[in-house]
Amino acid sequence: MAEEALVALDSCESYECDRVYSILKKQLGLLGISKDKIAGKRVVIKPNLVRKMDAGMAGTTHPSFVEAAGRLLVEMGADSVKVAESPGGPYNEIALRSVYKGCGIESAAKAANIQLNYDISWKYRENPSGEISKCFNIIDPYNDCDIIVNLCKLKSHGMAMMSAAVKNYFGTVPGVEKFEMHARFPNMSDFSRMLVDLCKMHTESCLTINIVDAVVGMEGNGPTNGVPKKIGAILASINPFALDYVCTRLIGFENKVETVTISEKRGYFDKDSIKILGSDVEALKCGDFKGPDSERVPALIWLSDFMGGRILGLIEPKPVINTKKCKRCGECVRSCPKHTIVFDKKKKFPKIHHSECIKCFCCQELCPHDAVKIKQNPLVKLLH
Ligand code: SF4
Ligand code: SF4
Repeated sequence: MAEEALVALDSCESYECDRVYSILKKQLGLLGISKDKIAGKRVVIKPNLVRKMDAGMAGTTHPSFVEAAGRLLVEMGADSVKVAESPGGPYNEIALRSVYKGCGIESAAKAANIQLNYDISWKYRENPSGEISKCFNIIDPYNDCDIIVNLCKLKSHGMAMMSAAVKNYFGTVPGVEKFEMHARFPNMSDFSRMLVDLCKMHTESCLTINIVDAVVGMEGNGPTNGVPKKIGAILASINPFALDYVCTRLIGFENKVETVTISEKRGYFDKDSIKILGSDVEALKCGDFKGPDSERVPALIWLSDFMGGRILGLIEPKPVINTKKCKRCGECVRSCPKHTIVFDKKKKFPKIHHSECIKCFCCQELCPHDAVKIKQNPLVKLLH
Protein backbone atom coordinates (compact mmCIF):
# COMPACT_ATOMS: atom_id res chain seq x y z
CA MET A 1 0.00 0.00 0.00
CA ALA A 2 1.25 3.52 -0.84
CA GLU A 3 2.31 5.62 2.12
CA GLU A 4 0.24 8.54 3.37
CA ALA A 5 0.23 11.51 0.97
CA LEU A 6 -0.42 15.00 2.28
CA VAL A 7 -2.31 17.41 0.05
CA ALA A 8 -2.81 21.00 1.17
CA LEU A 9 -5.96 22.73 -0.10
CA ASP A 10 -7.04 26.33 0.50
CA SER A 11 -9.57 28.66 -1.00
CA CYS A 12 -8.18 31.67 -2.83
CA GLU A 13 -10.43 34.14 -4.58
CA SER A 14 -7.89 36.42 -6.22
CA TYR A 15 -4.46 36.62 -7.81
CA GLU A 16 -3.32 39.33 -5.44
CA CYS A 17 0.34 38.41 -4.99
CA ASP A 18 0.48 38.84 -1.19
CA ARG A 19 -2.57 36.58 -0.80
CA VAL A 20 -1.02 33.85 -3.00
CA TYR A 21 2.28 34.25 -1.12
CA SER A 22 0.67 33.80 2.31
CA ILE A 23 -1.21 30.67 1.17
CA LEU A 24 1.91 29.12 -0.36
CA LYS A 25 3.88 29.87 2.81
CA LYS A 26 1.21 28.24 4.96
CA GLN A 27 0.93 25.21 2.66
CA LEU A 28 4.69 24.59 2.57
CA GLY A 29 4.64 24.68 6.37
CA LEU A 30 1.80 22.13 6.49
CA LEU A 31 3.71 19.86 4.12
CA GLY A 32 6.79 20.00 6.37
CA ILE A 33 8.91 22.03 3.94
CA SER A 34 10.90 24.19 6.30
CA LYS A 35 13.76 26.58 5.61
CA ASP A 36 16.40 23.90 6.14
CA LYS A 37 14.96 21.89 3.21
CA ILE A 38 15.31 24.89 0.84
CA ALA A 39 18.40 26.74 2.14
CA GLY A 40 21.43 26.35 -0.11
CA LYS A 41 19.49 24.37 -2.74
CA ARG A 42 19.29 24.95 -6.50
CA VAL A 43 15.60 25.32 -7.25
CA VAL A 44 13.90 25.31 -10.66
CA ILE A 45 10.33 26.59 -11.05
CA LYS A 46 8.29 24.83 -13.74
CA PRO A 47 5.26 26.96 -14.69
CA ASN A 48 2.79 25.88 -17.37
CA LEU A 49 3.57 28.18 -20.33
CA VAL A 50 2.16 26.07 -23.14
CA ARG A 51 2.34 29.05 -25.50
CA LYS A 52 2.34 32.83 -25.45
CA MET A 53 -1.00 33.77 -23.88
CA ASP A 54 -2.30 36.59 -21.76
CA ALA A 55 -2.70 35.45 -18.12
CA GLY A 56 -6.39 36.43 -18.27
CA MET A 57 -7.06 33.59 -20.73
CA ALA A 58 -6.28 31.13 -17.92
CA GLY A 59 -4.26 28.76 -20.12
CA THR A 60 -0.96 29.37 -18.33
CA THR A 61 0.24 29.59 -14.73
CA HIS A 62 -0.63 33.05 -13.43
CA PRO A 63 2.43 35.32 -12.99
CA SER A 64 1.48 36.05 -9.37
CA PHE A 65 2.24 32.36 -8.56
CA VAL A 66 5.72 32.71 -10.07
CA GLU A 67 6.34 35.94 -8.19
CA ALA A 68 4.97 34.63 -4.87
CA ALA A 69 6.81 31.29 -5.06
CA GLY A 70 10.00 33.03 -6.18
CA ARG A 71 9.87 35.48 -3.27
CA LEU A 72 9.23 32.70 -0.81
CA LEU A 73 12.06 30.50 -2.07
CA VAL A 74 14.53 33.39 -1.99
CA GLU A 75 13.46 34.23 1.59
CA MET A 76 13.90 30.59 2.57
CA GLY A 77 17.53 30.82 1.50
CA ALA A 78 17.60 28.93 -1.82
CA ASP A 79 21.04 29.07 -3.44
CA SER A 80 19.45 29.84 -6.84
CA VAL A 81 15.91 30.08 -8.19
CA LYS A 82 15.37 29.79 -11.93
CA VAL A 83 12.20 29.57 -14.05
CA ALA A 84 12.52 27.02 -16.87
CA GLU A 85 9.96 25.89 -19.42
CA SER A 86 9.94 24.28 -22.84
CA PRO A 87 6.71 25.58 -24.39
CA GLY A 88 4.91 23.92 -27.30
CA GLY A 89 6.72 24.70 -30.58
CA PRO A 90 10.39 25.55 -31.09
CA TYR A 91 12.77 25.73 -28.14
CA ASN A 92 15.08 28.68 -28.75
CA GLU A 93 15.93 31.94 -27.07
CA ILE A 94 13.62 34.03 -29.26
CA ALA A 95 10.64 31.75 -28.51
CA LEU A 96 11.43 31.72 -24.78
CA ARG A 97 11.67 35.53 -24.59
CA SER A 98 8.35 35.87 -26.39
CA VAL A 99 6.58 33.35 -24.12
CA TYR A 100 8.04 34.70 -20.86
CA LYS A 101 7.05 38.22 -21.82
CA GLY A 102 3.63 37.38 -23.27
CA CYS A 103 2.63 35.29 -20.25
CA GLY A 104 3.69 37.98 -17.76
CA ILE A 105 6.50 35.83 -16.36
CA GLU A 106 9.31 38.23 -17.29
CA SER A 107 7.99 40.93 -14.96
CA ALA A 108 7.06 38.41 -12.25
CA ALA A 109 10.61 37.02 -12.23
CA LYS A 110 12.02 40.54 -12.08
CA ALA A 111 9.78 41.44 -9.13
CA ALA A 112 10.85 38.30 -7.25
CA ASN A 113 14.52 38.74 -8.20
CA ILE A 114 14.80 35.27 -9.74
CA GLN A 115 16.31 34.12 -13.04
CA LEU A 116 14.71 33.06 -16.33
CA ASN A 117 16.32 30.20 -18.22
CA TYR A 118 17.58 30.86 -21.77
CA ASP A 119 19.98 27.92 -22.01
CA ILE A 120 18.46 25.62 -24.65
CA SER A 121 20.71 22.61 -24.11
CA TRP A 122 19.26 19.28 -23.04
CA LYS A 123 20.46 15.80 -22.08
CA TYR A 124 19.49 12.22 -22.72
CA ARG A 125 18.47 10.48 -19.50
CA GLU A 126 18.00 6.80 -18.85
CA ASN A 127 14.80 5.90 -17.04
CA PRO A 128 15.26 2.21 -16.10
CA SER A 129 12.18 2.09 -13.87
CA GLY A 130 9.89 3.43 -16.62
CA GLU A 131 7.13 1.07 -17.70
CA ILE A 132 6.73 2.32 -21.26
CA SER A 133 9.54 4.85 -21.70
CA LYS A 134 13.05 3.89 -20.57
CA CYS A 135 14.62 7.19 -21.63
CA PHE A 136 13.81 10.86 -22.04
CA ASN A 137 15.54 13.95 -23.42
CA ILE A 138 15.23 16.62 -20.73
CA ILE A 139 16.09 20.33 -20.84
CA ASP A 140 19.20 21.12 -18.81
CA PRO A 141 17.85 23.07 -15.83
CA TYR A 142 16.01 19.89 -14.75
CA ASN A 143 19.12 17.70 -15.01
CA ASP A 144 21.08 19.62 -12.48
CA CYS A 145 18.81 20.88 -9.69
CA ASP A 146 17.99 19.88 -6.12
CA ILE A 147 14.32 20.86 -6.07
CA ILE A 148 11.60 21.28 -8.71
CA VAL A 149 8.73 23.58 -7.83
CA ASN A 150 6.04 22.47 -10.27
CA LEU A 151 3.68 25.45 -10.60
CA CYS A 152 0.95 23.99 -12.76
CA LYS A 153 -2.45 25.19 -13.96
CA LEU A 154 -5.68 23.23 -13.55
CA LYS A 155 -7.21 22.83 -17.00
CA SER A 156 -9.21 20.51 -19.18
CA HIS A 157 -7.09 18.93 -21.91
CA GLY A 158 -8.10 17.68 -25.36
CA MET A 159 -5.96 14.57 -25.28
CA ALA A 160 -5.27 13.86 -21.59
CA MET A 161 -8.66 15.14 -20.34
CA MET A 162 -7.02 17.11 -17.52
CA SER A 163 -3.77 19.01 -17.17
CA ALA A 164 -2.47 19.56 -13.64
CA ALA A 165 0.70 18.36 -11.86
CA VAL A 166 1.63 15.18 -13.79
CA LYS A 167 1.01 16.57 -17.28
CA ASN A 168 3.01 19.71 -16.54
CA TYR A 169 6.28 17.73 -16.49
CA PHE A 170 5.87 17.22 -20.26
CA GLY A 171 7.25 20.75 -20.57
CA THR A 172 10.66 19.47 -19.43
CA VAL A 173 11.02 17.72 -22.82
CA PRO A 174 12.72 20.00 -25.35
CA GLY A 175 10.61 21.82 -27.98
CA VAL A 176 9.48 19.87 -31.00
CA GLU A 177 10.69 16.61 -29.43
CA LYS A 178 7.28 16.72 -27.75
CA PHE A 179 5.67 16.17 -31.17
CA GLU A 180 7.89 13.12 -31.66
CA MET A 181 6.69 11.79 -28.31
CA HIS A 182 3.13 12.07 -29.57
CA ALA A 183 4.13 10.02 -32.63
CA ARG A 184 5.91 7.42 -30.44
CA PHE A 185 2.92 7.07 -28.12
CA PRO A 186 0.00 7.69 -30.46
CA ASN A 187 -2.91 6.52 -28.35
CA MET A 188 -4.13 8.14 -25.17
CA SER A 189 -3.42 5.13 -23.00
CA ASP A 190 0.27 4.82 -24.00
CA PHE A 191 0.73 8.57 -23.95
CA SER A 192 -0.65 8.70 -20.40
CA ARG A 193 1.66 5.84 -19.33
CA MET A 194 4.59 7.82 -20.75
CA LEU A 195 3.50 10.95 -18.84
CA VAL A 196 3.38 8.95 -15.61
CA ASP A 197 6.89 7.53 -16.32
CA LEU A 198 8.24 11.02 -16.95
CA CYS A 199 6.71 12.46 -13.79
CA LYS A 200 7.94 9.52 -11.72
CA MET A 201 11.48 9.96 -13.07
CA HIS A 202 11.51 13.56 -11.84
CA THR A 203 10.13 12.64 -8.41
CA GLU A 204 12.84 9.98 -8.08
CA SER A 205 15.69 12.32 -9.00
CA CYS A 206 14.91 15.23 -6.68
CA LEU A 207 12.41 16.72 -4.26
CA THR A 208 9.35 17.98 -6.12
CA ILE A 209 6.99 20.53 -4.64
CA ASN A 210 3.84 20.52 -6.74
CA ILE A 211 1.50 23.51 -6.56
CA VAL A 212 -1.73 23.91 -8.53
CA ASP A 213 -2.99 27.30 -9.67
CA ALA A 214 -6.72 26.57 -9.48
CA VAL A 215 -7.81 30.12 -8.69
CA VAL A 216 -9.14 30.42 -12.24
CA GLY A 217 -8.83 27.26 -14.32
CA MET A 218 -9.66 26.57 -17.96
CA GLU A 219 -12.68 24.46 -18.87
CA GLY A 220 -13.88 23.19 -22.24
CA ASN A 221 -11.32 23.01 -25.03
CA GLY A 222 -8.16 23.27 -22.98
CA PRO A 223 -5.24 23.42 -22.81
CA THR A 224 -5.33 26.66 -24.83
CA ASN A 225 -8.72 27.23 -26.45
CA GLY A 226 -11.05 26.73 -23.51
CA VAL A 227 -12.84 29.24 -21.31
CA PRO A 228 -11.65 30.66 -17.96
CA LYS A 229 -13.53 29.11 -15.06
CA LYS A 230 -13.34 30.33 -11.49
CA ILE A 231 -12.49 27.50 -9.09
CA GLY A 232 -11.04 29.54 -6.22
CA ALA A 233 -8.44 27.13 -4.87
CA ILE A 234 -4.72 26.50 -4.42
CA LEU A 235 -3.43 22.96 -3.83
CA ALA A 236 0.04 21.67 -2.99
CA SER A 237 1.73 18.33 -2.37
CA ILE A 238 5.06 16.55 -2.54
CA ASN A 239 3.20 13.77 -4.36
CA PRO A 240 2.03 14.93 -7.84
CA PHE A 241 -0.04 11.76 -8.38
CA ALA A 242 -2.10 12.18 -5.20
CA LEU A 243 -2.43 15.88 -5.99
CA ASP A 244 -3.91 15.17 -9.43
CA TYR A 245 -6.38 12.75 -7.89
CA VAL A 246 -7.61 15.51 -5.54
CA CYS A 247 -7.84 17.85 -8.57
CA THR A 248 -10.16 15.35 -10.33
CA ARG A 249 -12.41 15.41 -7.27
CA LEU A 250 -12.35 19.19 -7.17
CA ILE A 251 -13.60 19.56 -10.77
CA GLY A 252 -15.75 16.43 -10.99
CA PHE A 253 -13.37 14.48 -13.29
CA GLU A 254 -13.08 11.36 -11.10
CA ASN A 255 -12.36 8.20 -13.14
CA LYS A 256 -11.95 10.24 -16.33
CA VAL A 257 -8.20 10.95 -16.29
CA GLU A 258 -5.96 8.09 -17.41
CA THR A 259 -2.77 9.36 -15.76
CA VAL A 260 -4.60 9.26 -12.43
CA THR A 261 -5.95 5.74 -13.01
CA ILE A 262 -2.52 4.49 -14.13
CA SER A 263 -0.60 6.04 -11.24
CA GLU A 264 -3.09 4.65 -8.74
CA LYS A 265 -2.78 1.16 -10.26
CA ARG A 266 1.02 1.42 -10.05
CA GLY A 267 0.75 2.26 -6.35
CA TYR A 268 2.08 5.82 -6.62
CA PHE A 269 -0.78 6.91 -4.37
CA ASP A 270 -3.64 5.32 -2.53
CA LYS A 271 -6.81 7.40 -2.40
CA ASP A 272 -7.61 6.08 1.09
CA SER A 273 -4.19 7.23 2.34
CA ILE A 274 -4.49 10.84 1.21
CA LYS A 275 -4.73 13.33 4.03
CA ILE A 276 -6.16 16.68 2.98
CA LEU A 277 -4.93 19.61 5.05
CA GLY A 278 -6.81 22.90 5.13
CA SER A 279 -10.16 23.17 3.37
CA ASP A 280 -12.58 20.39 2.56
CA VAL A 281 -12.76 19.28 -1.11
CA GLU A 282 -16.55 19.14 -1.05
CA ALA A 283 -16.76 22.73 0.16
CA LEU A 284 -14.66 23.98 -2.78
CA LYS A 285 -15.95 21.59 -5.41
CA CYS A 286 -16.57 23.06 -8.86
CA GLY A 287 -19.19 20.59 -10.04
CA ASP A 288 -20.05 22.07 -13.44
CA PHE A 289 -16.51 22.13 -14.86
CA LYS A 290 -16.80 21.30 -18.57
CA GLY A 291 -14.56 18.75 -20.31
CA PRO A 292 -13.13 19.14 -23.83
CA ASP A 293 -15.15 18.45 -27.01
CA SER A 294 -12.86 15.45 -27.48
CA GLU A 295 -14.12 13.80 -24.30
CA ARG A 296 -14.76 10.12 -24.96
CA VAL A 297 -18.09 8.55 -24.04
CA PRO A 298 -17.46 5.54 -21.75
CA ALA A 299 -20.34 3.47 -23.22
CA LEU A 300 -18.95 3.77 -26.74
CA ILE A 301 -15.37 3.05 -25.63
CA TRP A 302 -16.68 -0.08 -23.94
CA LEU A 303 -18.62 -1.06 -27.08
CA SER A 304 -15.58 -0.46 -29.26
CA ASP A 305 -13.35 -2.52 -26.92
CA PHE A 306 -15.97 -5.26 -27.03
CA MET A 307 -15.72 -5.23 -30.84
CA GLY A 308 -11.92 -5.37 -30.76
CA GLY A 309 -11.50 -1.62 -31.31
CA ARG A 310 -13.12 -1.85 -34.76
CA ILE A 311 -15.48 1.11 -34.41
CA LEU A 312 -13.23 3.41 -32.41
CA GLY A 313 -11.95 5.15 -35.56
CA LEU A 314 -15.53 5.94 -36.56
CA ILE A 315 -16.68 7.31 -33.24
CA GLU A 316 -13.57 9.18 -32.14
CA PRO A 317 -13.70 12.98 -32.26
CA LYS A 318 -11.52 14.53 -34.95
CA PRO A 319 -9.89 17.91 -35.58
CA VAL A 320 -11.26 20.12 -38.37
CA ILE A 321 -10.04 23.50 -39.62
CA ASN A 322 -12.43 26.42 -39.33
CA THR A 323 -11.50 28.38 -42.45
CA LYS A 324 -13.40 31.44 -41.21
CA LYS A 325 -10.94 31.80 -38.34
CA CYS A 326 -7.79 30.35 -39.95
CA LYS A 327 -5.07 32.92 -40.68
CA ARG A 328 -2.93 30.40 -42.63
CA CYS A 329 0.00 30.83 -40.25
CA GLY A 330 1.09 27.20 -40.71
CA GLU A 331 1.58 26.47 -36.98
CA CYS A 332 -0.66 23.38 -37.18
CA VAL A 333 1.29 22.07 -40.21
CA ARG A 334 4.58 22.45 -38.33
CA SER A 335 3.26 20.94 -35.09
CA CYS A 336 1.51 17.83 -36.44
CA PRO A 337 3.62 14.83 -35.34
CA LYS A 338 2.21 12.66 -38.15
CA HIS A 339 2.68 15.34 -40.87
CA THR A 340 -0.91 14.78 -41.81
CA ILE A 341 -1.82 18.45 -42.22
CA VAL A 342 -0.84 20.02 -45.53
CA PHE A 343 -1.75 23.24 -47.25
CA ASP A 344 -4.40 22.72 -49.89
CA LYS A 345 -2.78 24.26 -52.98
CA LYS A 346 -6.08 25.45 -54.45
CA LYS A 347 -7.90 26.70 -51.36
CA LYS A 348 -4.70 27.81 -49.58
CA PHE A 349 -5.98 26.54 -46.25
CA PRO A 350 -4.51 23.63 -44.29
CA LYS A 351 -6.20 20.29 -44.87
CA ILE A 352 -6.15 17.34 -42.46
CA HIS A 353 -5.80 13.80 -43.84
CA HIS A 354 -7.76 12.02 -41.15
CA SER A 355 -6.66 8.49 -41.97
CA GLU A 356 -3.20 9.23 -40.50
CA CYS A 357 -4.39 11.40 -37.61
CA ILE A 358 -3.58 10.04 -34.13
CA LYS A 359 -5.94 12.47 -32.29
CA CYS A 360 -3.15 14.07 -30.29
CA PHE A 361 -4.80 17.50 -30.79
CA CYS A 362 -1.44 19.31 -30.95
CA CYS A 363 -2.94 21.25 -33.88
CA GLN A 364 -5.74 22.52 -31.67
CA GLU A 365 -3.41 23.19 -28.76
CA LEU A 366 -0.96 25.28 -30.76
CA CYS A 367 -3.26 27.11 -33.20
CA PRO A 368 -2.94 30.74 -32.07
CA HIS A 369 -6.28 31.69 -33.65
CA ASP A 370 -8.63 29.06 -32.20
CA ALA A 371 -9.21 27.82 -35.75
CA VAL A 372 -8.98 24.07 -35.06
CA LYS A 373 -12.21 22.62 -33.76
CA ILE A 374 -12.84 19.14 -32.43
CA LYS A 375 -15.77 17.58 -34.24
CA GLN A 376 -17.72 14.89 -32.46
CA ASN A 377 -19.54 12.11 -34.25
CA PRO A 378 -23.29 13.07 -34.14
CA LEU A 379 -24.11 9.77 -32.41
CA VAL A 380 -21.64 10.57 -29.64
CA LYS A 381 -23.12 14.05 -29.26
CA LEU A 382 -26.48 12.47 -28.48
CA LEU A 383 -24.91 10.37 -25.73
CA HIS A 384 -23.16 13.28 -23.99
S1 SF4 B 1 -2.48 27.03 -36.84
FE1 SF4 B 1 -4.60 27.71 -36.95
S2 SF4 B 1 -4.54 29.70 -38.00
FE2 SF4 B 1 -2.57 28.70 -38.32
S3 SF4 B 1 -2.82 27.61 -40.31
FE3 SF4 B 1 -3.36 26.16 -38.70
S4 SF4 B 1 -5.56 26.36 -38.44
FE4 SF4 B 1 -4.87 28.14 -39.57
S1 SF4 C 1 -4.00 16.40 -37.38
FE1 SF4 C 1 -3.91 17.30 -35.33
S2 SF4 C 1 -4.71 15.69 -34.01
FE2 SF4 C 1 -4.20 14.72 -35.95
S3 SF4 C 1 -2.11 13.94 -35.69
FE3 SF4 C 1 -1.95 15.98 -36.59
S4 SF4 C 1 -1.72 17.38 -34.82
FE4 SF4 C 1 -2.49 15.42 -34.02
